[in-house]
Amino acid sequence: MMTRLTRTLSRAACALAVAAATLQAAPAQALSLIRDAEIEATLRRLSGPVFRAAGLDPDEVRIVILQDPSVNAFVFGGRNMALTTGLLRESDRPAQLIGVIAHEAGHIVGGHLARRQIAERNARGPVLLGLALGVAAAAAGGGPAAAAAIAGGGQAAERALLAYSRAEESAADQAALTYLERAGIDPGGMLEVLDRFRGQEVFSERHQDPFARTHPISAERLSLARARAMRSPAWGRASPPETVYWFDRMRAKLDGFLERPDRLLARLDPADGSEFARLRRAVALHRLPDPDRALAEVDKLIAMRPSDPYYHELKGQILLESGRAAQAVPAYREAVRLAPDEPLILAYLGRALLALNDPAADREARAALEQGAARSGGGDATLLRDLALAYARTGDEGMAALTTAERLAIAGARRDAVNQARRALTLLPKGSPAATRAQDIILSLQDG
Ligand SMILES: [Zn+2]
Repeated sequence: MMTRLTRTLSRAACALAVAAATLQAAPAQALSLIRDAEIEATLRRLSGPVFRAAGLDPDEVRIVILQDPSVNAFVFGGRNMALTTGLLRESDRPAQLIGVIAHEAGHIVGGHLARRQIAERNARGPVLLGLALGVAAAAAGGGPAAAAAIAGGGQAAERALLAYSRAEESAADQAALTYLERAGIDPGGMLEVLDRFRGQEVFSERHQDPFARTHPISAERLSLARARAMRSPAWGRASPPETVYWFDRMRAKLDGFLERPDRLLARLDPADGSEFARLRRAVALHRLPDPDRALAEVDKLIAMRPSDPYYHELKGQILLESGRAAQAVPAYREAVRLAPDEPLILAYLGRALLALNDPAADREARAALEQGAARSGGGDATLLRDLALAYARTGDEGMAALTTAERLAIAGARRDAVNQARRALTLLPKGSPAATRAQDIILSLQDG
């Protein structure tokens, strides 16, 4: 299931903003994040070796996908990394994307942005913080959150606020080349990206990719990186077929969800029966919408890879979104059976079950959504809304109130969150773990 979370971010009001009393709002902009279990798994697969080579725990680096056609990547709030859909779609081969991720990992390990954040706290810190919180809040699926000047306008501000120094850029390159070498990945991909942005220096800012503005590229930087890269034993090494497969599949899915479906269908050869042509067609037909033809394509994909959870999930999505929840449930159940630890798939199984309006299905939904919340470390706002509904329908008003309080806290609606937590306290057994959670929400939010 690919979902798009669009929030017009207008004010700083996220649970994470509690500590940031000085937060100021930057101009409101729409910030769209893409959540997709399959693509997120692919990015973990691509980035894992580089993170481990950098001494980072892959589970502790959060990658978020920004829906933005421009090519950009940046780190924020310590160990979070944002990659744009433009970057994912315009990378020609895995080594290019992995090279950018390695470079960003170099900024994380070097603590570059964190240092700037402290240095500029008085003048510009609040805006940087706003950017980080905006992405974090949108990633949590929160409601109104911090404004973020990421895409589009504000290019001069972006360069002033987010651009690294030349020394930091070279340091991140050298660190990245070390990680790539340790992980046995061709550094040629990273050089191809640098070459591409190097060429943009002749453009006016308006026509540059944001990556080139925030990661300034000098001739000296490029020649240093090239000299080092060409000595790598992995220079020119091909990516493993498995890596290439998931990378190409990610691009096919992004094409399906982001291109205009009529245009995508027009440029695909209807006789092309290859896996990724079918994936592009399935998603484009679903969005057209032509669910029956989309389902015919996805059934062919399932026949090609019967134990692939994400094709069953896609089938569930097409069925659920075309109003066939009863048929979507078995598709999602199969996806969960094949990928029991994917919180996003559990969330959609829960949603499909709730759509049945049946007591037994409500109980199954509650179990699936509880698992999804546990596996995602709390769950996002959409999952929590569904979980509260499942609690209410199964007669657990106390847990419904607590879950609603947690969702409101993520969304930054502090007063409402505190009120719901107080209500939960009157309903939950005294001294229970759930009552303690309600108490914690009240304590952390009531004095803000
Ligand atoms: Zn950089």
